[in-house]
Amino acid sequence: MIVLDGKATSAQIRLEIAEAVKALYSAGKKTPHLCAFLIGNNGASETYVAGKVKACEEVGFRSTLKRFPETISQQELVEEIEKINQDPEIDGLIVQMPLPKHIDELTVTLAIDAKKDVDGFHPTSVGRMALNLPTFLPATPAGVIELLKRYHIPTSGKHCVVIGRSHIVGSPMSILMARNSEPGNCTVTITHSRTTNLKELCLQADIIVAALGKPEFLTADMVKDGAVIIDVGITRVPASDTKSGFRLKGDVKYDEVAPKCSAITPVPGGVGPMTITMLMLNTLKAVELFGK
Ligand code: NAP
Repeated sequence: MIVLDGKATSAQIRLEIAEAVKALYSAGKKTPHLCAFLIGNNGASETYVAGKVKACEEVGFRSTLKRFPETISQQELVEEIEKINQDPEIDGLIVQMPLPKHIDELTVTLAIDAKKDVDGFHPTSVGRMALNLPTFLPATPAGVIELLKRYHIPTSGKHCVVIGRSHIVGSPMSILMARNSEPGNCTVTITHSRTTNLKELCLQADIIVAALGKPEFLTADMVKDGAVIIDVGITRVPASDTKSGFRLKGDVKYDEVAPKCSAITPVPGGVGPMTITMLMLNTLKAVELFGK
């Protein structure tokens, strides 16, 4: 059984990005510049954005963090996005989710110039992804694809079951696994909360991507011998024996599933570390595709 080490893989990719930044500089091109919008005082969002800013420093990007109060109106936020859209200094813009209730996520996503949509959530990016055209891929599914690629996990002709159909993970994951590319070329079954025969489907799967957000949901009796298991789930569960008072749990019951499978991602240290790194890769891609 191989443990797909997202931490080590992510560190290696960041070194490669740092080299690419030096090469851009030597060629007289601009340094990639990521701008992050943070609205309100959500603790988890603060942590995620801090991780993104730190990653920018690590790979040699410029970064700008713009904070806005919880009370900002949707119109004001859209105007701030438009300013960034017009700013030639900035290559990528991310608006950290979740947004305050009075702001519509889709309106915000649509306001971002697709050429700066390094989260890959804009309909233009999603459409181009589906058509297998060069574009920004959503970071978490792209991180899964990169892990499969770097560990040379065969995917062509395999049956992949994706559990979850969210716009940021399950749905794009199913598109990427089914695309005519490597990794890809899977026969994909996408499942969700209304699926009635999930166990039966999982037992037929060569590859399972669990992205439903239910800790330790996927158990050994749902997995066939030799399957590849990708655990996207991250849930904080209370733990009195840790300093923080919680522990991160994936969607897979790791201890009982791992001995049955041929490869598996741990939580933490699997898909999680890949996500921010793929955002960095998208920002580099923004300069390569659209930079002057
Ligand atoms: P989400 O928006 O809540 O979507 C969950 C999906 O799972 C939905 O499609 C839901 O079905 C489906 N689902 C729920 N219960 C199910 C069940 N019993 N059987 C089958 N499907 C079920 O969650 P998300 O944003 O995709 O995130 C999923 C997990 O990944 C979370 O733990 C999240 O923290 C984690 N995550 C990790 C990263 C990372 O960097 N590693 C990034 C993003 C998310 P319906 O559509 O029918 O409701």
